[in-house]
Amino acid sequence: MAAVTSAVRRLVQAMPKAELHLHLDGCLRPATALELAEQYGVAAPRTFAGIFDALVAPAHPGSQAELLKSFELPLRLMQHPEALARITTDLVEDKVADRVRYMEIKWAPAFHCEGGLSVDQVITVVADAAAAAAERCGAVVRLTVVALRSADPAANVQLAHEAVAHRGLGVTGFDLAGFEAAHPDPTIHAEAFDVARAGGLGLTVHAGELLDDGALVRRALELRPHRIAHGASSIGDPSLLAELAERGITLDLCPTSNVQAGTVAEFAEHPLVRLLRAGVPVTINTDDTTISDITLSEEWLSCVRELGLTLPELWACNLHALQVAFVDEPTRASLLADFRAWAAALPELHPT
Ligand SMILES: [Zn+2]
Repeated sequence: MAAVTSAVRRLVQAMPKAELHLHLDGCLRPATALELAEQYGVAAPRTFAGIFDALVAPAHPGSQAELLKSFELPLRLMQHPEALARITTDLVEDKVADRVRYMEIKWAPAFHCEGGLSVDQVITVVADAAAAAAERCGAVVRLTVVALRSADPAANVQLAHEAVAHRGLGVTGFDLAGFEAAHPDPTIHAEAFDVARAGGLGLTVHAGELLDDGALVRRALELRPHRIAHGASSIGDPSLLAELAERGITLDLCPTSNVQAGTVAEFAEHPLVRLLRAGVPVTINTDDTTISDITLSEEWLSCVRELGLTLPELWACNLHALQVAFVDEPTRASLLADFRAWAAALPELHPT
């Protein structure tokens, strides 16, 4: 375990940051959730402490199924345009307060259609709110539409067309997520990924939250993604590590979330640093700021303290996130220049 001094803490907090793996429905402010529950008559605790406990997953639920239950209350609160817009705005503001300058927000529109909204309405209201908040806060926000493993493949093809149709509103990515144990084969959604790829979207697939020696990540690679969401279980397969390194496929890792999902027993056992030093490109993310009760700064500091990640390694992961972000080249170049200028006079962030 490495010491984290006050100086290191302040340095990490001050870093301009990029975050690529971030779910809208995992990031509700408890105070906002309280108000929305009252406004829409949703059954939920009516105190801050009560709703906080309902939103935050236990530190060790022990399984992905248990972790996914934490999304039930947020989704009941997110069936109205005003609620979706407000939660999106809150998230951008909260991330900017943690010095996140570039973020990719992902969410599954299908989860928000139970109250009568269409997929088009869900995407448009989130995109409009994200763009307005980004402009006001001086951040860059891009959106990733998430298809569900459990959905009918034809429905995901239609969703991919909808995602492509909203590229002009900041949708730049397409993802697949859901309960891996019940739906282990992502390749049934290959046609949806073909549509998204043809439409110019960046592709990522959730995989490897289960302890399976990398088999689920291997299946996900058949969809030819640019990045993998999670993928920690790859550590169990040396040939897979070599393939990820050679193909340059980035793992968007979320260590605290993996502890909550039972992927690893303790934070200190997370393979993030071993993956990085094996040549696998990685980024470090929160997954769900509220469900995991963590800020990105805290997650990065935990990696330094618990995993021995060095500050130059951390900074390199941050720059790498920009390099593989689903964003247009002028914006990428501008952000990279800003980040590098910020770090130029800080020797701690550069390899000696
Ligand atoms: Zn995720």
